Amino acid sequence: MNLRCIYCQTPFTLGRMEKLAAIQRLQAEDMHHYDVFCPRCRRANTVSIERLQIFTPGWKEGLKTLESEAAQVEKSRAAVASVAAAVKSAAPSKAAPAKKRHASKAAKATAAKPQKAASAKKKPAAAKAKPTAKAKPAGKAKAKKK
Ligand SMILES: [Zn+2]
Repeated sequence: MNLRCIYCQTPFTLGRMEKLAAIQRLQAEDMHHYDVFCPRCRRANTVSIERLQIFTPGWKEGLKTLESEAAQVEKSRAAVASVAAAVKSAAPSKAAPAKKRHASKAAKATAAKPQKAASAKKKPAAAKAKPTAKAKPAGKAKAKKK
């Protein structure tokens, strides 16, 4: 919605989200006017809740979405947190080949991908080491997919 500062005549707009937030707040606090601060002179321009509602078509639905969106943000935040926790708990077993790390300096240098360094190092050395090296990355891949 387009507004014009009553003090300095600067035109500015009030976004839908801001209008919805304003309506929500006014209703929550049982107030009837919203102070919009002019971007130029920073003085408060009063807008009545009726005007906010008139200039925000579908504001009732908008408030509902606002609330459900807020809930969704919380949800996804929690999901991200749990995923991060899962990754964290999976990480130690992933990077577990501590003996591999100790085994060679090369593996240490490429600690980010220990299995690659290990297999590269073990390949020429002995065919015996291959199966064990293979078994571990498999478990790794599993954890990654998850
Ligand atoms: Zn102004």
